[in-house]
Amino acid sequence: MISDPNCIFCKIIDKKIPAKIVFEDELALAFEDLNPQAKVHVLIVPRKHIPDIHHMSPTDQELIGHLFLIAQTIASQKGLEKGGYRMVINNGLDAGQTVFHLHLHLLSGRKFAWPPG
Ligand code: AMP
Ligand code: ZN
Repeated sequence: MISDPNCIFCKIIDKKIPAKIVFEDELALAFEDLNPQAKVHVLIVPRKHIPDIHHMSPTDQELIGHLFLIAQTIASQKGLEKGGYRMVINNGLDAGQTVFHLHLHLLSGRKFAWPPG
């Protein structure tokens, strides 16, 4: 599995630093955001170190789809379907990406504005 020893999310995946893990399987991990922006704020992260969308390759197609299905599972488990939720990928500096290990934010528990800030 491709990993980066300097990457904070790779360290969480390798259990070198703690996180509140809510889901894990052979391809991905989901854990609570350290600085939550809503009542529910979970990060869904592939085990493979992919820095951003532009480092994805066609072989990652299923993996990325898998992240969305994990979000669906977590949203169902937490009963978020009725009220709704937002899923976000910040890609690159202008979008506010701070951790360069691709991840999907799952946010819920309040109303979200559109357009985003
Ligand atoms: P982004 O800004 O889209 O790259 O998102 C990175 C997210 O990772 C932010 O929401 C941070 O609060 C979160 N984060 C950073 N370090 C940790 C950590 N050690 N455990 C959990 N979440 C983290
Ligand atoms: Zn990483």
